[in-house]
Amino acid sequence: MRVQKGKNDLIAPVQMDINSTFTFACEKEMACFTQCCKDAHIMLTPCDVIRMKQRLGLSSDEFLQIYTTLGYIEKTDLPIPVMKMLEDEKKTCPFLVESGCGIYEDRPLTCRYYPLSAGMFHNRDLNSDKHFFALVKESRCLGHDLGRELTIEEWRKDQGIIPYDETNIGWTEMILKRKSLGPFVTIPEKTLQMFFMGCYNVDRFRRFVFDSLFLNVYIVSEERKKKILEDDLAMLGLAFDWLKTTLMGEGKLEIREQVAETNPVEVDA
Ligand code: SF4
Ligand code: SF4
Repeated sequence: MRVQKGKNDLIAPVQMDINSTFTFACEKEMACFTQCCKDAHIMLTPCDVIRMKQRLGLSSDEFLQIYTTLGYIEKTDLPIPVMKMLEDEKKTCPFLVESGCGIYEDRPLTCRYYPLSAGMFHNRDLNSDKHFFALVKESRCLGHDLGRELTIEEWRKDQGIIPYDETNIGWTEMILKRKSLGPFVTIPEKTLQMFFMGCYNVDRFRRFVFDSLFLNVYIVSEERKKKILEDDLAMLGLAFDWLKTTLMGEGKLEIREQVAETNPVEVDA
């Protein structure tokens, strides 16, 4: 997974880790203020969709339809919503207002990381996941080498990134697992649709859980049922468990005994 903003990013060849430092400043008074909010390629994570649709008072169906288009996660066939820019000359972000980002507190992860690009890979030999980062140097951004020196970890704290990364962890694990299967494994279309609904369309997934045979197939505690009715993040957690169970064979959700005995488990998405 790579977090990407500008389409013509110049990514410094040096790979950085969480303790690497960079020097950067971003102030309203700068001549480039909000230039980075135009013609940007912003892929949305599950946490982004929930924060933004809540902020805008929309259902996830409505949000996805109005503000996104379909993209694919780098080096995979896994779908991901990409923010639609306006159709004006500069392809401006629809959330840009005169004073800056109109949804600043709920801006997506890509905007929080910028000018960094973040990625992750699975080290098969060590059986561990490794985070890596790169500095994105676009000529339109004048903030490089100004201001104070920060470690990447300080930047992540400063920009409120950590809760996003924590919410998205089930999603990043699935992406890494998909990548580890290699490009010659084909994922059926229906499976990709399940992935999209579970990861990005929380309201549709909620309807699916309560209106289909889902709860006859999987054991979900009464306490969890109550929570997922109202709480989008709890619903997302259930979606990750379901996807990991059905798509990755990880057994995160328990299957009712009589179902397991009689049937291979299948719930239509
Ligand atoms: S969401 Fe906000 S920060 Fe991100 S590109 Fe749009 S206006 Fe800029
Ligand atoms: S310094 Fe860079 S990130 Fe800040 S407003 Fe200017 S272009 Fe955007």
